[in-house]
Amino acid sequence: RAVIEARDLTKVYGRGENTVEALAGVSLAVEAGEWVSLIGPSGSGKSTLMNLLGLLDRPTGGSYNLGGREVSGLRGGELSRARRDLVGFVFQSYNLLPGETALANVELPMVYADVGRKERRRRATEALERVGLSGRLKHKPTELSGGQMQRVAIARALVNGPSLLLADEPTGNLDSKTSEEIMSLFGELHDSGVTIMVVTHEAEVAERGDRTIEIRDGRIFGDEGRSPGRDVE
Ligand code: ADP
Ligand code: ADP
Repeated sequence: RAVIEARDLTKVYGRGENTVEALAGVSLAVEAGEWVSLIGPSGSGKSTLMNLLGLLDRPTGGSYNLGGREVSGLRGGELSRARRDLVGFVFQSYNLLPGETALANVELPMVYADVGRKERRRRATEALERVGLSGRLKHKPTELSGGQMQRVAIARALVNGPSLLLADEPTGNLDSKTSEEIMSLFGELHDSGVTIMVVTHEAEVAERGDRTIEIRDGRIFGDEGRSPGRDVE
């Protein structure tokens, strides 16, 4: 079952004479349960691709099917809802609300999804247990280590049961030991069937995935570890 089916995605920023073609036609299929590493030089289009795949931005051209749903034509509220229901995000900078507890941070995506108070608390607690933070439910980000903050962010990303977990340099602010712990957690999520896509420039992080896609100049330059039959024609 394909989670991602993207065909000929393009992205042009700007207008008139100042346009930048950030993606020049990317076709890509990712099966449920795959762990894909996305690598490539700075400016090659990795963030642009992640933003399109994560429904944070819309392509200039091409089609995109996410979790069995055609999403390239969505805009406005429909796009936000699809993003909320289908995608979980993890960022280098954690992006947690600093004044709120771990529980409140993880409950936030469910507030927007109109999940009731008790159910929110239950699911957030469960998600924090899943990432090994059952002892830190009431802690605020300032009272947590970088690795723990990233675990909270991962719990938040998972709490709505997304089809796809997208991580942009998730270990960029972590020391190597903590980074290894976070990658082990990704390994556990992978084993439980979560589909993962990670942007990284760290070889040790990229190697943890079972497939590595390299982007150069807005195109797929290499795709290693892909099993047969996954091409988009
Ligand atoms: P990467 O994540 O690989 O560093 P990006 O996707 O951020 O690459 O950028 C790809 C290209 O698109 C670069 O030339 C970059 O300058 C340009 N770009 C990215 N975002 C914007 C934007 N919002 N407006 C204009 N150009 C952009
Ligand atoms: P960088 O890769 O430059 O360190 P981030 O990883 O923080 O930046 O963010 C990657 C992309 O996701 C950026 O284009 C940013 O605008 C967007 N972004 C960051 N945080 C959020 C968020 N909480 N919700 C939606 N989009 C975000």
